[in-house]
Amino acid sequence: MLSIAWPDIDTVLLDMDGTLLDLHYDNHFWLEHLPQRYADLHGVSRAMAELELQPLFENNAGKLCWYCLDFWTRELQLPVRELKLETAHLIALKPDADTFLAAIRNAGKRVILITNAHRDSLSLKLERVELAPYFERLISSHDYGFAKESPQFWNALKSDIDFDPARSLFIDDTLPILRSARDFGVAHLLAVREPDSRKGPRDTAEFEAVEDYRALIETL
Ligand SMILES: [Mg+2]
Repeated sequence: MLSIAWPDIDTVLLDMDGTLLDLHYDNHFWLEHLPQRYADLHGVSRAMAELELQPLFENNAGKLCWYCLDFWTRELQLPVRELKLETAHLIALKPDADTFLAAIRNAGKRVILITNAHRDSLSLKLERVELAPYFERLISSHDYGFAKESPQFWNALKSDIDFDPARSLFIDDTLPILRSARDFGVAHLLAVREPDSRKGPRDTAEFEAVEDYRALIETL
């Protein structure tokens, strides 16, 4: 059972993909759908597509361009936005994520979305799941020009929203991002036990993890 010091928290910062939304959509898109459509549209085998994509994925993971649809559109010579729509039916909230958001709002917390998703990916998702109304702000790291993995992101966030890291809770499914928040001084941190519903639970190293939003609401 998680113990969260709710009275010491007035701001809740939340990641989107893998935290509030099932990461299955993104994993399926990047690991299955995109390689297949790359093969179809460039007239190569699926194996060749994987071979060509692999170094691009490895060289750009964790950088801001990794999350940028313009970058991939240019780099892969593919209409990435349209391709994303082809699997949009897989975009889904994690169980009880919306109930959790409503509960923390009702408890008087500032609730802010901070995502590395490109604005276009963010819009695509917000059109399909009802998330926007729960948030005071929806911030894409592309607005600042630094990914959440970078210390500069946190400085930019601080000057933008004026939050107290010592009185903030941040939930994210990416461990290097949680470490970056910790280095900045964010005092309350939670990972996510199962970002992708098809892949099962995973080890979250030194971080405690949300397993069930309903159980988290009960600690409020
Ligand atoms: Mg995430």
